[in-house]
This record gives sequence, C-alpha cells and structure tokens, in this order.
Amino acid sequence: MSKEDLQALPPVHELLAELSGRVRDLPRALARRACRQVVESERARILAGGAPPDRARLAAMCEQTAIAMTKTSLVEVVNATGIILHTAFGRACLPEAAIEAVGSAARGYCSLQWDWDSGARGDRDTHVEGLLRDLTGAEAATVVNNNAGATLLVLSALAKGREVVVSRGQLVEIGGSFRIPDVMKQSGAVMREGGCTNRTHLKDYRAAIGPDTAALLRVHPSNFRIRGFTSEVELADLVALGREHGIPVIDDLGAGSLVDLSVFGLPSEPTLPDSIRTGADVVCSSGDKLIGGPQAGIVLGRKDLLDRIRKHPLARALRVCKLTMAALEATLKVFLEEADYIRRNHPVYAMISEDSDSTRARAERLCASVILPERCSASVAATSSYMGSGALPDSAMPSWGVVIASPDAGRLAALLRTGEPAIAARIEAELLLLDMRTVFDHQVGVLAERLSVAARELWA
Ligand SMILES: *Cc1c(COP(=O)(O)O)cnc(C)c1O
Repeated sequence: MSKEDLQALPPVHELLAELSGRVRDLPRALARRACRQVVESERARILAGGAPPDRARLAAMCEQTAIAMTKTSLVEVVNATGIILHTAFGRACLPEAAIEAVGSAARGYCSLQWDWDSGARGDRDTHVEGLLRDLTGAEAATVVNNNAGATLLVLSALAKGREVVVSRGQLVEIGGSFRIPDVMKQSGAVMREGGCTNRTHLKDYRAAIGPDTAALLRVHPSNFRIRGFTSEVELADLVALGREHGIPVIDDLGAGSLVDLSVFGLPSEPTLPDSIRTGADVVCSSGDKLIGGPQAGIVLGRKDLLDRIRKHPLARALRVCKLTMAALEATLKVFLEEADYIRRNHPVYAMISEDSDSTRARAERLCASVILPERCSASVAATSSYMGSGALPDSAMPSWGVVIASPDAGRLAALLRTGEPAIAARIEAELLLLDMRTVFDHQVGVLAERLSVAARELWA
C-alpha cells in the first residue's frame, strides 16, 4: 500500500455530486451516507493491502449502496424449508383478517385503550380478554410482548423472593438466552428443583414444598423429548397437590394450541383449554407458535392472580402495541369457528392440513418451469415438513418438494439467499431441497425464475 493508493480515493462530496447527477430523486442524506460508507470501506480495504478501485467502479458501488439503502431491510422470503413456524422468518403467516386489522390500526388512531362509557383511559386487554375467556374457559387473561416476557412477568408477580418448585426434567432452554433457571433468577424467584432429569414423581414435588413455596411450575418440553425410562407428573396431580397446600400451579405451555391438533392430522398436544380445564391457576403461551398470530405472550388464569400480574410494573414494560393487539384479536376470532373454517382462513392451518396432491402439484409446476444449465437437474421428491419454533419436534409431516442436483448445493443456496425475494431452502445429502408445503402458489413463478437465474450464473 502506498500513500498514493489512499489519495486515489476521491472525496465524498465529489462522489456525491456524481451520484446525484446520475440517479434522480435520491434523498440527499441517504446518498451522502452511501458515498461515505463506500469510501470508508474502500479505505479499509486499501489499508489492508488491496488495490485502489477505479473511478467508474467507485461510482457504481455508490449507486448500488444508495439504491440498497432506499429499500427496507425486511425483505420477502420464499420459505422453501418446509418449516411452518420458522423463527428466522417471523414465525406465523397471519390470517387475512389479521393483516387487514393491522393495516387499519396502523393507518390512523384506534380505540386501543379507551373506555367507551367514560371516555377515560381504559384497559388494552378488553380487546382480547373476552375472546380468550370464551376460547379457553379461563376467568381472566392478559397479553404481553412474548411468552418469554409472560413467564418472567408471572414469576416476578407471583413468586419474587419466594420459592418456585420445578421438575429437573423441565429446565428447558428454548433458544438464545431463554432458559428456565435464568428466567427464574431474573424474576427474583428462587428455583427449587425436584426429581431427576428423566423421572420426577409427585413425591418429589411434595418434598420440595416448604413454607416459602409460592408456586409449582410446569414447563411443557415443547422442543425436545426424553425417551426410555421416564416419568413426569400429570398436570391434574400437580393441581391436586397445589390445592392441598394452597399453592398456585403455573403451566408454561410454550406452543400452546387453542384447538386439538389431531383434528388437523397431527398428534395431540396439550391445549390451552385443556390446561385451564385441568385446573392450572395460570397458563402462559406464545401468540405466534400454534396460535399462529403476532409475536405475543398470552397469560390466562384465575382472576385474583391475573389482577396481581396486570398491576406489576413489568406488565407496563412488556405491554403490546396497537398493531399486535389488532392482529391478535383477528387471529383469535378465527378459532371461534369450526375446523374447516380455520383451515380455510388461517395460513398455518392451511399449510398443516394441505392435501398431498396439492403440494405435489406445486412441486411439479416448479419442476416444469425451472430452466437449468446442463450440469444441474430438477426432480420432484417426497420429503418431510416440520412445525418449527420448538413445537411438535417429533412430528414429520409427509410433504413434496423439488430436489436440485448441482455441482455445489451450498453455493446455489447462498446465491438464492441474496436478492429479492430471498429464497430459503434445505440442503440434504448435497442436494438442494425445496419443500413446497410452505411455498405459496403465487411464489412458484418467482421461485422458478430465481432458481434458473442463479444456476445459470453459477454454471452456464
Ligand atoms: C417458546 C417457548 C417460550 C418462549 O416463547 P416466545 O413467545 O418465543 O418468547 C417459553 N416457554 C416455552 C415452554 C416455550 O416453548
């Protein structure tokens, strides 16, 4: 690297003048940011020993960067992974009614927290509490930012400075930094473990209960299974024990469903209404797992306990905005109807229960419209989809996909990830696999186009 190399970099204002001359209607501050970013990264590259770029290339880089900056960073993803609730892609696809509700709530003012009778400040929960009561049988309900927040809030409000008994088989890590022992510590509750990793009995809970016990916690092992010599205590027995000692039972269902999934051809998971019916005093669930709504945490249960939870200062820190409330209300309303209506109106349930012929037809359509260079080939193949987000980790759903054989599936996948829409696929046995269960009909065309272009760019 020589001093001249660095001096070859033009000043930002010159690049900016050129850029403004070439691309019309670029907001000024954005154009300046783009030029500055390019100059800085080129300077770093030259200092690291790279050759100085020529002027035309610099101008092109400024233009590309500026145009990229005008776009939103949240780009559309074609989810060909077959994972229905993929956390990286925002989990659930919402019902149309929820999308409309979000649009109108976003556009203007709404009655988020307005008491119709008095005209004074009211309570946000009114928009969903009645629905949640009807759907689950709970006495009361509130909504927070997500289920991690719900668990933290419930433990803080009901057990701070006191003990919470939990089975050693349920000290779950959900992902990232959500681990039951850590959440417990954050809440100020003291964790009292009972039983063993594989087996916990009612007598273990009984032995762990003392004068300081504030609650018994059950955590649904949503994202893993313990097999073999195992046993966990049934919720009903835990509830009976809690009643005997006057201690509330908290049930963190995680991916809690509002409906029996066996109706949709999946194994039954404990539902929110089941948990309430069995007598859990407080039940927590995500809003964007099996409910398939917006990111939210739902807390259901006894009114006296919900009142304490709602009044806790963390409730304010974790409250949801009008967009979430609008989306959640509309999503919950879908579950008031019969299974067939849910299937027709909720994309998550449409994906779960799509008949195999329709998925296969989409795979065939993709296979027929993709144009690949000689070294690649496409074929329709049977595959398996999964629920995702830690829900039903055992349940593979038979599905249909398109397999692309190519010299390098990794490079193809990487190229498909960049660009718009971004394509997310799986790699299995060095083949690129596109599961069509999670790909919408209207995305097949663009998927074929992007696949064809990418394969040609790499191997034509
Ligand atoms: C997913 C999950 C959570 C966290 O829920 P988020 O809505 O993702 O915050 C907590 N507990 C259990 C058992 C879960 O499965």
